[in-house]
Amino acid sequence: MSSHSICENIKQIKQQFENVELVVVSKYRNLDELQAVYDCGHRDLGENRVQELVSKAEVLPADIRWHAIGHLQTNKVKYIAPFVHLIHSVDSFKLLKIIDKEAQKAGRVIPFLFQIHIAEEETKFGLSIEELEVILSSEEYALLNNVKCKGLMGMATNTNDQEQVASEFKGLRSLFDKHAKALDWDTLSMGMSSDHALAIRNGSTMIRVGSLIFN
Ligand SMILES: *Cc1c(COP(=O)(O)O)cnc(C)c1O
Repeated sequence: MSSHSICENIKQIKQQFENVELVVVSKYRNLDELQAVYDCGHRDLGENRVQELVSKAEVLPADIRWHAIGHLQTNKVKYIAPFVHLIHSVDSFKLLKIIDKEAQKAGRVIPFLFQIHIAEEETKFGLSIEELEVILSSEEYALLNNVKCKGLMGMATNTNDQEQVASEFKGLRSLFDKHAKALDWDTLSMGMSSDHALAIRNGSTMIRVGSLIFN
């Protein structure tokens, strides 16, 4: 795909959904394609594998904001802790405690989202609503000084049933609304290439889009 069309695709999405933040998902894409995104003026890139994120970050401009969007293994946190912009995929308290520890070592506060399991599929990672509530009300959570929750992330079921997808997004939005004010949350990351319009209609503030931009 030419750098011109990549930029046109990004501009089109931004124009259509002005009040939503766009994370361009750059996994599997080469450096020329990422450079095209950068040259288009876009700075938020998302990767789901730590190794790929780190190796791309090493060679691309330093002002790119890197989003970690995939399941994160605890032993990989240290590689992204010094610079990651937002971790979308906190799916266990154990992981969060490791992120806090590595953030402290790096001398910073790392913004993150709790990933909530909203899909029917067994395979998708994420916390249940009950698990989230337990974490939020725990004393140990209150003591973490080097992480800052910005909100929630979720992935809907991969189905053509629009009503089901919409209802999963609605459910996540209402969980977000329940806590956003008291906990100072501003980010609800939901919606990918196939379902971003539906996600936005149901209250998404941040979409993660890959194939729609590069294909
Ligand atoms: C790959 C990926 C996306 C983007 O998927 P597309 O269908 O290419 O838009 C979004 N979120 C996560 C967590 C992903 O792994």
